[in-house]
Amino acid sequence: MLRRGSKVVVLRGYLMPMISESTPVAFSDPLPDAVDVAVIGAGVIGTSTAWFLAKQGVRVALIEKGRVAGEQSSRNWGWVRQQGRDRYELPIMMESNRIWRGLAEETGESDLTFTAAGCVYLAEDERELAKYEQWHDLAREHQLDTRMLSADEAREVASGVEGRWVGGMLTPSDGRAEPFVAVPALARAARRLQVSVTENCAVRTLETAGGQVRGVQTELGSVRADRVVLAGGAWSTYFAGNAGIDLPQLVVRSTVGRTNPAPDRGLPNVNAPGFTLRRREDGGYTVSSGDFAEHYICPRSFKYFTKFFSLLRLSAKDMRLRLKPPAGYPGAWGSKSRWSADEVTPFERMRVVNPPPSEEVRRRLAERMPRRVPWLHEVGLAEIWAGMIDVTPDAVPYICEVPALEGLFIGTGMSGHGFGIGPGVGRVLADLVLGRPTGFDLARFRFGRFTDGSPIVPGPY
Ligand SMILES: Cc1cc2nc3c(=O)[nH]c(=O)nc-3n(C[C@H](O)[C@H](O)[C@H](O)COP(=O)(O)OP(=O)(O)OC[C@H]3O[C@@H](n4cnc5c(N)ncnc54)[C@H](O)[C@@H]3O)c2cc1C
Repeated sequence: MLRRGSKVVVLRGYLMPMISESTPVAFSDPLPDAVDVAVIGAGVIGTSTAWFLAKQGVRVALIEKGRVAGEQSSRNWGWVRQQGRDRYELPIMMESNRIWRGLAEETGESDLTFTAAGCVYLAEDERELAKYEQWHDLAREHQLDTRMLSADEAREVASGVEGRWVGGMLTPSDGRAEPFVAVPALARAARRLQVSVTENCAVRTLETAGGQVRGVQTELGSVRADRVVLAGGAWSTYFAGNAGIDLPQLVVRSTVGRTNPAPDRGLPNVNAPGFTLRRREDGGYTVSSGDFAEHYICPRSFKYFTKFFSLLRLSAKDMRLRLKPPAGYPGAWGSKSRWSADEVTPFERMRVVNPPPSEEVRRRLAERMPRRVPWLHEVGLAEIWAGMIDVTPDAVPYICEVPALEGLFIGTGMSGHGFGIGPGVGRVLADLVLGRPTGFDLARFRFGRFTDGSPIVPGPY
């Protein structure tokens, strides 16, 4: 419990330890024999899709190998950001921003509260600022409230964050939500709309007949469904691979921390060179170095090397290659790449990927916090953790149907920015599944873009 003014705020889960296999199961609905749509994976993408489908009266089974939001969807920074997005993602993200604003009220779940605190990028040199100015043109095209900041304005907006700013970029309508609790709250809301939600239940294989999806086989039995949504995050490429579908995607480890409670300085989400923060509902701040990720080399790294070449070139200074993923991690050496429905699969061997945090990020935070945010450094870090991010070769997602297999839809590869856009992607996927116009140009997110000879053009990552 926290005191905010005279109001007592009951925190459900913010201070809980990281979700892992030992976290109690909260969703254990019996698997239905048949539904209209089976959704694989209860991160923000699968859960949002299930919720939007259920609002249309569609019968849905949401099936999760570990815990709802146990992987990326509870481990992220909690930024709900339009600023800096890829040109084709931006309209969906703007829709997502609109959805976030109404979620708490529509679902009656206060854990889905969105706080429109804004999002600011700060620049210490003209080159960085010029990049922001370029993006600002895109914001203008979309009548977004983004504006460029002078050095003085940057100092004022990010008061308490130290640096020699030459300027910045601010989007006041951006904001934040609480990853630990938001997606489970949405799963509860989906359940009230008759979605069956089942944790600790790996989907092992797809059932198909005549080039058409017929359902899924899980470790607890089969579910008949003519439409299936694959929203498996870091695991999607392996699930698809077993079904004979090539889905280029790799994973990187990203590390983040939270501080002990500290004064609320009314800050937006702040992205400064080498340091990021956002205010948390529990009174602390989520912080990160923002400039470091690690890729564990695995068989897929070699398979997809040429496809990831452009992205690697852009991100090389932020990226470290580690020799091999720990046993059981997505794609680890020696893990099976093919299996049948009656054998134990990699999904149930690793219910929740819970990587150890990077010592390099811990070191960077220890070095930078006293310089950037001395007042926050004083209160100290309460916890530091990591997540495995699923990345595509162009750092934008797959939001698509698979042409060769009727009834299979994919929402994956969110490439490190899927929490904010999650509800928007869920809405779009639900429309795709129902064969309705989505209102967006989805060509950028199509299934075959890495194999049809198109140039691979990375978006901002
Ligand atoms: C450290 C960090 C910081 C980030 N910061 C931000 C941020 O500030 N803002 C933002 O927008 N994004 C951020 N992201 C990215 C964001 O968290 C992800 O893009 C998003 O959560 C992806 O959601 P998802 O549902 O696709 O995947 P996940 O949340 O990973 O969910 C996939 C689920 O599928 C399940 N699954 C997989 N295979 C199977 C199977 N065969 N059967 C059943 N279940 C299966 C998994 O167990 C998992 O729970 C960050 C990520 C990290 C790690």
